[in-house]
Amino acid sequence: MRDRVVSCGMLLAAAVLIGVSTDACEVATAPPGAASLAPPPDFAEWWAEVEQCSGRTGEFDRVAWYVAPCEMGQNGFPCDVTPNGLCAGEWRAPHTIVLGGPNRFFPDGYVDDEWTVKHEMLHDLLGTPEHPVEFENCHLALR
Ligand SMILES: [Zn+2]
Repeated sequence: MRDRVVSCGMLLAAAVLIGVSTDACEVATAPPGAASLAPPPDFAEWWAEVEQCSGRTGEFDRVAWYVAPCEMGQNGFPCDVTPNGLCAGEWRAPHTIVLGGPNRFFPDGYVDDEWTVKHEMLHDLLGTPEHPVEFENCHLALR
């Protein structure tokens, strides 16, 4: 229930329907109401740790961070990719990560939730919404 990506196929289909350029596939959008986030100092350290355990490297500065408001009384923000329609974090290709804002379980939201942030970082380093073996190696597999 923690992540996933808006499928490029869906974006392409939508692009055809409304007749805009398929360049939209390269531009990930944040959910409605999401605010841009300047990554806290911890994030660069966490990024380095995820690079280490995954054996992958990537440019930390390439990631665009957002915080999305959580649904009232829920512990996630609305997303299309989980069974319950809520996400704590979501990676969107190519390099956008959305984190859930304050909620009743996490009063500060998921910005300081190391597991969630690192999980989404690993998606970015691997460039996939799937969960290959690196997630096990980094102890970031879905629980
Ligand atoms: Zn994931």
